[in-house]
Amino acid sequence: MWTCPNCNRIFKKAKQPHSCKKVSVESHFENKEKARELFDFLHRRIEEKIGKCKIVSLPCCVHLFGTYDFIAILPKKNGVEIRFALDRKLDTPRLKVSVPMSSKVFKNCFDIENKQEIDGEFIGWLKESYHLKD
Ligand SMILES: [Zn+2]
Repeated sequence: MWTCPNCNRIFKKAKQPHSCKKVSVESHFENKEKARELFDFLHRRIEEKIGKCKIVSLPCCVHLFGTYDFIAILPKKNGVEIRFALDRKLDTPRLKVSVPMSSKVFKNCFDIENKQEIDGEFIGWLKESYHLKD
């Protein structure tokens, strides 16, 4: 693990090329109050049910970093898109899309529009993702 001394982002490889441009968490959620509410709720639930995580704001989206950056959150007008890695494609009608990252890792994407969708089943998947690289 390498932390860029300039922007404090954490990378697997030392001196990983990247943009050091900083974008605040607030700017991601500007005029997106519903997305902010869902994000705060999600963050709280994860810390209660799964474990500590750090908010990392990138130019493209917001990441939650547990033992690695296991969730990407993209604020939308009416909610958030949530992407996380698992060792399989989830078989659920709730899934928006699943993208293979390698032969063993799939990025599973969900659209979340209300808190009820962040239920036990959903937290269970996030928990698996959190521990994927243990
Ligand atoms: Zn940097």
